[in-house]
Amino acid sequence: AQADPQEMALKCAMARIRHKVLVLSGKGGVGKSTVAANLAAALSKDERVGLLDADLHGPSVPRLFNLSGSQVLGSEGRILPVPVTPLLHVMSIGFLLEAPETPVIWRGPRKLAALRQFLSEVDWDEREYLIVDCPPGTGDEPLGVIQTIGEVSGAVIVTTPQELALEDVRKSVSFCRQLETPVLGVVENMSGFACPNCGEVSPIFEQGGGEEMAQQMNVPFLGRIPIDPGVVRACDRGELTRYQQSAGSASARAFDEVREA
Ligand code: ADP
Repeated sequence: AQADPQEMALKCAMARIRHKVLVLSGKGGVGKSTVAANLAAALSKDERVGLLDADLHGPSVPRLFNLSGSQVLGSEGRILPVPVTPLLHVMSIGFLLEAPETPVIWRGPRKLAALRQFLSEVDWDEREYLIVDCPPGTGDEPLGVIQTIGEVSGAVIVTTPQELALEDVRKSVSFCRQLETPVLGVVENMSGFACPNCGEVSPIFEQGGGEEMAQQMNVPFLGRIPIDPGVVRACDRGELTRYQQSAGSASARAFDEVREA
């Protein structure tokens, strides 16, 4: 049988990336993109990192890095990721859509084809890490991402502390196990509120659910990130990389923990 050129391009592209880390969540809105972007930014302090926004329905990477409207098409149909810093390059389906408010209404097969194209035609070059902000849930889209990448190093699962969200994490852990994708661990986001004045963290939802669940499912617990108005501000203004560099906030510490794990 003849080798499929897209398949070969994909294999070559993936072979040049050492660790492929997926960021998953059971549902939308729990902070998956925020964690993925912060993780990529933290790792890129001393390694070459790529961040791929594969969340077709809510691509948020262009906004997080204030890159909306960036040019990504290079010569010969190659897609060039956008440099945020010399060590951090990002790619998002959002760059290929004309207006940021255009919803993606493609049907299943077309979405999966777009994801494959992303993964095979983006010129990542040599990278130590590729952080993939996956579509939420455990359906066809995250499945398509994992199957396309092939050898995934591991997945970080993001949740909020409420029981309803935790149910979804159990599903995400089982999903990874079925696909033989190692679970690097669970991050509990929006865990308590960090007071902007004194820094004290007050619980809003029940805390600790993520940790207990991680224990039950026998996966590592990577840490909790409080609700932090600084995160919202930095993300809304596209100043995430600058926020990352301002040490001391509780969430920055938690992101570092994830990095160590
Ligand atoms: P998802 O990718 O899971 O849909 P996002 O990362 O887009 O979620 O986050 C949803 C919203 O919550 C965003 O507006 C983001 O800025 C905000 N957010 C995420 N994590 C935190 C946090 N720790 N503190 C405050 N706001 C947060």
